[in-house]
Amino acid sequence: MRLKIIAGNWKMNKTTPEATELARGLIASVGQTERPRVVICPPYTALSEVAKTLKGSSIFLGAQNMYFKESGAYTGEIAPSMLLTIGVAYVILGHSERREYFAESDSIVNEKVKLALKTGLIPIVCVGEKLPDREKGLTEEVIAVQIDGSLAGLGEEEIRKIVIAYEPVWAIGTGKTATPEMAQQVHSFIRKRLRERFAAGAETISILYGGSVNAENAAGLMNQDDIDGALVGGASLKIDQFIGIIRSSGK
Ligand code: PEP
Repeated sequence: MRLKIIAGNWKMNKTTPEATELARGLIASVGQTERPRVVICPPYTALSEVAKTLKGSSIFLGAQNMYFKESGAYTGEIAPSMLLTIGVAYVILGHSERREYFAESDSIVNEKVKLALKTGLIPIVCVGEKLPDREKGLTEEVIAVQIDGSLAGLGEEEIRKIVIAYEPVWAIGTGKTATPEMAQQVHSFIRKRLRERFAAGAETISILYGGSVNAENAAGLMNQDDIDGALVGGASLKIDQFIGIIRSSGK
């Protein structure tokens, strides 16, 4: 059975005191929930304090990015070992905002995925088509290129350790959600693609859906066969919404 994961991407929101307060609120409501697995991804500056806050709870800590080198003269960047040693378990890689605003290509994402795995972090690898791609009927083609490029060179054992997030770019932060059927179609395509490339490894990978998920639409999405959880942006900053998503997602 695949692990169901609800991950909150807090993006560039929350000062450290605000982040610890939100984490405390989550612990009070879902801090002992083992299934689904709950992951929160605050900004870098809050990670250490939130890690301390989460100790003893079942909530996992994630980062929103990392650099693809282990150390060195890369001013302003953060190495995966720095994240691991403060208690980070997951790292979001290739988010569409990183691809769009910071020119992250599939090959950069691939470097990051490999180093994250080598370091012991669990990558949440994001893929998703833009609206013109969908309108031209190119969704599967675009996703295939992103999957193949981001996961190039990985073996069947490594693939078992990663998480994929399908996030149609047109649904992120827009209030437009893919219908459960539209999302399931792409998730099923992703799993088929993974099966072709990584054989049995594909069956155990959790594939999360992301794009304007909220407490009202979560259950319909999570009921689909190949949707194994959600990567949540805006609604993860609102405690009632995020808890609603966790509670309606099943185990
Ligand atoms: C995201 O940024 O990963 C995301 C899915 O955002 P939102 O839920 O706000 O659409």
